[in-house]
This record gives sequence, structure tokens and C-alpha cells, in this order.
Amino acid sequence: MTISELRTDPISGRQVLIAEDRAGRPSDFAAQELGRGEQTECPFCAGHECLTPEALFEFAGASGEWQVRVVPNKYPAVSMEQQSSLQPRTSALGATAQPPEGVHEVFIESPRHVQDITELSSVELALVLRAYRERLRFWSTDECVQHATIFKNVGVAAGASLEHVHSQLLALPNIPPMLAAEMESSQRYYADKKVCVFCQLIEEELTHRQRLVVDAGSFVAFCAYAGRQPFETWILPRKHSARFDHLSDEDTVALAEILQQIVGRLQAQLSPLSYNLILHTAPFSQRHVASYHWHFELVPRSTTLAGFEWGTGMFINPLSPERAAGRLCVE
Ligand SMILES: [Zn+2]
Ligand SMILES: [Zn+2]
Ligand SMILES: [Zn+2]
Repeated sequence: MTISELRTDPISGRQVLIAEDRAGRPSDFAAQELGRGEQTECPFCAGHECLTPEALFEFAGASGEWQVRVVPNKYPAVSMEQQSSLQPRTSALGATAQPPEGVHEVFIESPRHVQDITELSSVELALVLRAYRERLRFWSTDECVQHATIFKNVGVAAGASLEHVHSQLLALPNIPPMLAAEMESSQRYYADKKVCVFCQLIEEELTHRQRLVVDAGSFVAFCAYAGRQPFETWILPRKHSARFDHLSDEDTVALAEILQQIVGRLQAQLSPLSYNLILHTAPFSQRHVASYHWHFELVPRSTTLAGFEWGTGMFINPLSPERAAGRLCVE
């Protein structure tokens, strides 16, 4: 029997999803590394719909065929269905194990076999962003989940198993630790100063312009002050907004353009480019509406996490965010 559970380490408090079922995932990259040559059938290409679970949501393009397709992850890290089989337990040491409850979905971002968002038109990418919004809206009314993270892994160094352009949503009954830390800190700042810390950060980055990458009306992008990897870039709406699911249609197009622009510039700096794009948005409750500000964190994966990072949770970044921004701004 395979083991699937959410474990909490009794000493560090670290949370880990044990998900043995995911070991059976198909991988384009494993096949390539083994030199098997010919690509196996891509489950995300148009015409191969029978290789994925039934769609939960679709956007049709002008031709009437699907343009963006959302399906349950065939190899989920979390699931609502396993709840009854495992009882939560706590060891004498205080280690806990719970059923890995949650929702794990995949966004197939194009019917064509393309590998990155720069190969989509901005209208096509805007439709993907609208699909993110629709799925977040859908889960926001479900009492079983408190928060959802949307993320994209591009390239084998970023953890992708399939190359066809896609992203994932993971909705959980709890707020993951990194998000909880951001919520807490921004709430503390708000309680003290009565303003959103992210709004202040945007003002500061726009004033000093040392790390600014794009200033495009509704959205701003800059290299993160304490970026974990070279070129880590944050993209934020200029106007305060805690939740991505409140985004307007108009803004999805502007956001698609800025995302493509940044990924294009990163491709010019790092080849081949592997990256993670992570959407941080407030939990579905109204608690963080004034203090939190949704954003994308785009983390290129050009260096490997090594012993120091694994052993301490601290990162070593060999390129200053100021120099990285300078390189991204060179047209
Ligand atoms: Zn494909
Ligand atoms: Zn704000
Ligand atoms: Zn964040």
C-alpha cells in the first residue's frame, strides 16, 4: 500500500506531504535523459484528452475548440477522497500525521505542444489567467479549503515532469507556512502603520528604481530585495488588491503582456531557462483584505540548492538583485 499523508516534524514543525502515488508520473524529461529519443504521447495535446481525467473547466477559443483546459491532477499530492482511510494521529514525540486533504488541479494552457508562455499570444495567456481566476473563485466558496496556491514549473531544473505548457493549483484546508508568515508579517505592519506593506514596497521600488524591471501602468515588476536566486522577480498590481480572483478581464491582458516580457528577458539571460512562477494570493476569508497584496514570485532556477540551503533554510544568491535588474532592463 502506498503512503499518502501530511506529516509535521515534531522538532522543526516542518510540514511534508508524503505522496508515494506521484512516483508513477509520466516524464518527458526522464525519457529524454534515458535517450529514448521519440517523445511519448503527450497527454496535454489536443486529441489526447482521453489520457487525462475529465475536464473540470474549459475556455473555448474562437474556433470553438478548447483553448485552456483544467483537469484534476492524475497523480495528486492531496485529495478530498482519501479522508476516511486515515485517522489523524500524534506520536508521543508530538509528530503528527493527517490525511493529505486538498485539491490538486492542472491547467493545460494550450492545445498546441508549446513549452513556455512566450510561445502563446498575450490573448491566449490572458485566457489562462482568467482560468486561474475562475478556479480560485470556485474554490473560494468551498468550506473545506482555506487557501490555494497556483504555480508553474518550467524546465527540468524547476521540477517539471511534462514540457507541454501547464500550471497547477493546490488548494489546502490550512494556510501553508510560507504564506502564513507573509500574512502575519503584513498584518502586523498594517496594524502598526495602517497601510499595506506591499503598497509601500511598490512606492519605494518606483522611487529608487534600483531593482525596477518593468513599470507598466497596472503592474510593476522588480527584482526582489532579498531574492533567493539570481533574477528572482516579483510582479504586483500597482493598485492594492489582496486576492487574485478579484482581477478584472482588462487587467488579465496587461498582466499577460508583462509576464511574457519578463520571461522573454530572462530567456535572453539564461539559456535554457528553467523557472518557477508562484502566485501568492490571500486566503479565502476576508481577514487579510486590507493588509495583504497578491503577487507573482518568478524564481529562475539557475543554481542548485546545496548543503547550506538544505541545512539552514538560508539562501546564497551569487548575483545582486540590483545588478540582475540592470541586466533585465537592457533591451
Ligand atoms: Zn503536448
Ligand atoms: Zn497593497
Ligand atoms: Zn510572496
